[in-house]
Amino acid sequence: MKHIYGPVSSRRLGLSLGVDLVPFKTCNFDCIYCQLGRTTRKTEKRREWVSIEEVIEELKAALSCEHKIDYLTFSGSGEPTLNSGLGEAIKKIKGFTAIQVAVLTNGALLRSAEVREELMESDLIVPSLDAASQRVFEKVNRPLPSISIEEVIEGIRAFKKAYRGTLWLEIMLVKGVNDSPDELQRMREVISRIAPHKVQLNTVVRPPSEAYALPLIREEMDKVRVFLGSQCEVIARFGPREPPPLEREEEKAIWESLQRRPATIKDLADGLGLHPNETLKYIKKLIDAGKIEAISFGNKRYYKPIKKKER
Ligand code: SF4
Repeated sequence: MKHIYGPVSSRRLGLSLGVDLVPFKTCNFDCIYCQLGRTTRKTEKRREWVSIEEVIEELKAALSCEHKIDYLTFSGSGEPTLNSGLGEAIKKIKGFTAIQVAVLTNGALLRSAEVREELMESDLIVPSLDAASQRVFEKVNRPLPSISIEEVIEGIRAFKKAYRGTLWLEIMLVKGVNDSPDELQRMREVISRIAPHKVQLNTVVRPPSEAYALPLIREEMDKVRVFLGSQCEVIARFGPREPPPLEREEEKAIWESLQRRPATIKDLADGLGLHPNETLKYIKKLIDAGKIEAISFGNKRYYKPIKKKER
């Protein structure tokens, strides 16, 4: 499958089947914390980047084998609202399944009335909002120059006002970049303007696009949560957990491949015939298990096994 990946199990969405509507790293932002690496196609052109007909066919085939999916989630290799067929895709999905539809977006295209209209039939939308001022917005999200944070905020607010579904705002906090008292004060005001159903706080717990994008520690996240108000929760997972067993063939194949040589997500996805997001899911599991780490070389981010210290 080219456009469908997973299912991915998460605390937020239960069991979710991913739907990817754009080619790898097609985005109007180039966030310093992006887990997929730097944006290679920075654009705000809306077009049918991938065929909606193909996506729907793949989705129907995937659903004929999977029966316990909680959400169909538009997310993936870039910004899903850049596909001009997004509204059509949601409508078609609603025509053949009762599974809830979620859209994870950077929120920038909610400036557009057309995009807001297309998203109305979804059940859950999770826009990111990592800044409340233009200066910090440019530092953390590195958007296209034509995008103003005030217009993005106003777009999210207008969408929430008209939307009958659920809207959670996700804020990614980066140490020393968007966590100053001034920015958090502005953020608190923006949250009360938008009035999301929930605010989910995240931080850089996985290898970012830029090595200087550092996480807040748990205590700092808790302080921000208290400051931002009662609808706020921390969703970042800190620290290595008990290594889970390598569950699937794909995960084993990635682990074996990385033991031979370091590789990027794209190298692994191309080499093993996996979707980049599916590859990312297994990479995250291996990082969480303390088995592999990221290293930068040139402009790229590679993953390699962590060597055990010799005694
Ligand atoms: S984190 Fe999302 S919005 Fe930011 S560059 Fe990556 S894909 Fe784009």
